[in-house]
Amino acid sequence: MNGIPAQRSTSPSSLTQAGSRTAGTCPSCGSTRLTALAMTLTDGTPVRFSSCHECEHRTWVHDGGELEFTDVLARATKVKV
Ligand SMILES: [Zn+2]
Repeated sequence: MNGIPAQRSTSPSSLTQAGSRTAGTCPSCGSTRLTALAMTLTDGTPVRFSSCHECEHRTWVHDGGELEFTDVLARATKVKV
């Protein structure tokens, strides 16, 4: 008798997972299964990258604004001289 009720979730993916900050919803499919992580582009621009698990839509946000994919590519592939 340990007093702990057996109420383990049967759901494989808990919505209350600690450590994973939600990145809102996917602008493409509306899913909330996004992975968000902070990263810095090659030119030093700090961005928040989020990737959708459902449709693999990816977004980069800088200063509250979404960056164009081509813009990210341009910054990320800048050749160091
Ligand atoms: Zn999506």
